[in-house]
Amino acid sequence: MKSFDVVVIGAGPGGYIAAIRCAQLGLSTACVESWLNDEGKPALGGTCLNVGCIPSKALLDSSHHFSHIKHEAGSHGINVPGITIDVNKMIERKNKIVQTLTQGIAGLFRKNKVEWLQGHAKLISGDQIEVAPVGEGSAEPYVVTAKNIIIATGSVPVNIPPAPVDDELIVDSAGALKFNDVPRRLGVIGAGVIGLELGSVWSRLGSQVIILEALDVFLGPVDRQIANEAEKVFRKQGLDIRLGAKVTGTGSNNREVTVTYEDTKGKQQLIVDKLIVAVGRKPNIEGLGATDVGLNIDEQGFINVDNNTLTNLANVYAIGDVVRGPMLAHKASEEGIAIAERIAGKPGHMNYDVIPWVVYTWPEIAWVGKTEQDLKADSTEYQTGVFPFAASGRARAMGETTGMVKMLSDANTDRVLGVHIFGPSASELITEAVIAMEFDASAEDIARTIHAHPSLSEAMHEAALAVDKRALHI
Ligand code: FAD
Ligand code: NAD
Repeated sequence: MKSFDVVVIGAGPGGYIAAIRCAQLGLSTACVESWLNDEGKPALGGTCLNVGCIPSKALLDSSHHFSHIKHEAGSHGINVPGITIDVNKMIERKNKIVQTLTQGIAGLFRKNKVEWLQGHAKLISGDQIEVAPVGEGSAEPYVVTAKNIIIATGSVPVNIPPAPVDDELIVDSAGALKFNDVPRRLGVIGAGVIGLELGSVWSRLGSQVIILEALDVFLGPVDRQIANEAEKVFRKQGLDIRLGAKVTGTGSNNREVTVTYEDTKGKQQLIVDKLIVAVGRKPNIEGLGATDVGLNIDEQGFINVDNNTLTNLANVYAIGDVVRGPMLAHKASEEGIAIAERIAGKPGHMNYDVIPWVVYTWPEIAWVGKTEQDLKADSTEYQTGVFPFAASGRARAMGETTGMVKMLSDANTDRVLGVHIFGPSASELITEAVIAMEFDASAEDIARTIHAHPSLSEAMHEAALAVDKRALHI
């Protein structure tokens, strides 16, 4: 029987990063992964690389280029008559990016001497795992032992009874990444991150997109000022966002889907060519044998862990989407690094208060720390600095004048408590705020830091100056 210092279950951004870091630290490490791609071939990378972060961003980039050329290029004096879209080529490009990156992880495993145990892992005890190889010509199941186990089995889409996914007309996020043409009418259930990102992709390519959101409020977790601005802009872009819409049923006739829902006006009906169900994700412990070995699971199906991601079983840890906290790739990866370091006897570090979020619409929405409504709710005294991109020279030069940077700092200490951006490249700009908050910076620290001119980052500088009511360009 093979034995390892560490066996990681799952090779998504939590598991594969944990495995590489364990191996870098000299621990003998294996990673069990069962993913089979659309060709039935084993693949590493989990949800993020195969059907999540990366393929969605590839399509967001392609569709952004298309939309930009169609609607904006003319203002630069660039005329592109008769612009068309080849959806199959766009999907092929996305598939190649996924293939390159997932194969890259296999290369990183080889380089770092992480052994990939291809197959499905089932816990037999707190230090034994059965691996059942999957896919074509798979071998017999076998058992390995581990001094430490890291569970990183991720999450899967939530299904709702009124809209069962059939992978043809009604799809989940994975299905929405491989349409072979642009649906004329596209319905989306859920105006969350996936609904907005994938809704934007197909809307930019020409679909009429209707998004049904159960809640009355748009993007509840986002700072209200930013969410309200974003809602206006997205509606103007053509997304038909219907709030307070409770889906009651769907029916399909192999050509189109009829969706019934209720809102304040009563019973409503919608007919679309495709329907994406994007109502959240749930932890994945399917076939893991978690309860058989006595792992503590909460009522929503998450594996219970302490602050150090230790489960109730000795030397069994869990990280990423399968445990509490935001379901984000970088959160999973950082937990993976932290636990690898702790297993190796080092002080692994994870700051849950400073995790950035990004919604990759255009303009993008990015934030870190507290929203203004959070600060009001816990009666924190705060001060605010807002700077619009319309007043930024670089944003003007780029033709990207929508949105703003908003900074919130403690009224007594000036420590930065939250930064919220709606604007171009917000996903990149937010990192400055993340670093500032990681080092407990004040708004004045950012205001005293020299920012290159002309750059979008000057909007961050000006928002910091605005906290002290001394912005220079508004
Ligand atoms: P996963 O990536 O889900 O990986 C878990 C792996 O474990 C899978 O490969 C699975 O096959 C394997 N596994 C499960 N059970 C077993 C078992 N018993 N034996 C062997 N293997 C097993 N996050 C971001 O931060 N940024 C984004 O831009 C972003 N975009 C997204 C877009 C979409 C469309 C979706 C769906 C998600 C997106 N996410 C994004 C979320 C991100 O994908 C997840 O937070 C991240 O993948 C979680 O990583 P993980 O390692 O915990 O789990
Ligand atoms: P989400 O939680 O972001 O949004 C789901 C939305 O669906 C919510 O607004 C919710 O109110 C709504 N909803 C729930 N049930 C509904 C119903 N029956 N009818 C209508 N609306 C309903 O979830 P998601 O968009 O599915 O994404 C799942 C997770 O994946 C995200 O929370 C995030 O953690 C991760 N993700 C991250 C990124 C990113 O970082 N850019 C991108 C995609 C996904």
